[in-house]
Amino acid sequence: GAEDIASPKRTNDLLKRHGFKLKKSLGQNFLIDTNVLNKIVGAAELDKTKGALEIGPGIGALTQQLAKAAGRVTAVEIDQRLLPLLKETLAPYPHASVIHGDVLQVSLNDLFKEHFSECSGVSVVANLPYYVTTPIIMKLLEEKLPLENIVVMIQKEVAERMAAGPGGKEYGSLSIAVQYYCEPEIVAIVPHTVFIPQPNVDSAVIKLKVRQQPPVDVEDEDFFFDVIQASFTQRRKTIYNNLSAKYFTKENKGELEGLLREAGIEPSRRGETLSMQEYAELSKRLKAYLK
Ligand code: SAM
Repeated sequence: GAEDIASPKRTNDLLKRHGFKLKKSLGQNFLIDTNVLNKIVGAAELDKTKGALEIGPGIGALTQQLAKAAGRVTAVEIDQRLLPLLKETLAPYPHASVIHGDVLQVSLNDLFKEHFSECSGVSVVANLPYYVTTPIIMKLLEEKLPLENIVVMIQKEVAERMAAGPGGKEYGSLSIAVQYYCEPEIVAIVPHTVFIPQPNVDSAVIKLKVRQQPPVDVEDEDFFFDVIQASFTQRRKTIYNNLSAKYFTKENKGELEGLLREAGIEPSRRGETLSMQEYAELSKRLKAYLK
């Protein structure tokens, strides 16, 4: 097959020949290790009937490996200066296309209809720009796109927060939001040395297997997530204190204690100890009370 784009020599030669200066503000840390790329692509479980959406192809190192594994690859890149480089590196892969744009602005529903309607399943696979990891993941999940899985390289601390269960300091509203939509699994911890330039944080590859159904029954998702957000407003405060500050007045906050107990939750507990099931139960009762 064609030479790997990811080799340090080919990456440096390409950047130099095009006079390309990496932009730190766009999170441009390019992967130069084919083993890591293969681990990412392997976790997505692609085949020629599947499609892959990549966010931020850079010079195409991951795009190339995706093109080898999937039937259709579409990559959204914000930096116009990369388009001529991608045109060159992806020339051997006509089923891979690049769209110029900010993934947070692009209509992904339209993109899916246009690019993936013939695929038996679609994955999002990316080495994400770290400055916008959470907004990108939340956009993918909240738009309820027909995805099989999301396999992304992100900052290690963020991966740990996404995968955390109740009880620890990593557990928070991000953990619950991600786990409401997906089953997370940390696939690999990745050293700085596989990037040009090397980022000053540790990285991890996380796989989010998208659920067909949420694991808990929630009527009003917006309110459910509001209650969770409110419960973590001040991590050191009790669930009672955080929720009374958000939803109750001095006059009626006595009611909250009974409401919590009815949901099986001791009012002196902290938000970080509640399971998703408990938040679902609590938000149902709180909504009925506030109505
Ligand atoms: N995929 C390449 C790799 O693994 O070597 C590049 C990954 S680099 C960490 C992140 C890429 O995302 C950069 O090419 C950057 O220009 C692009 N990017 C940053 N913000 C973006 C956004 N909002 N929408 C689309 N692409 C973005």
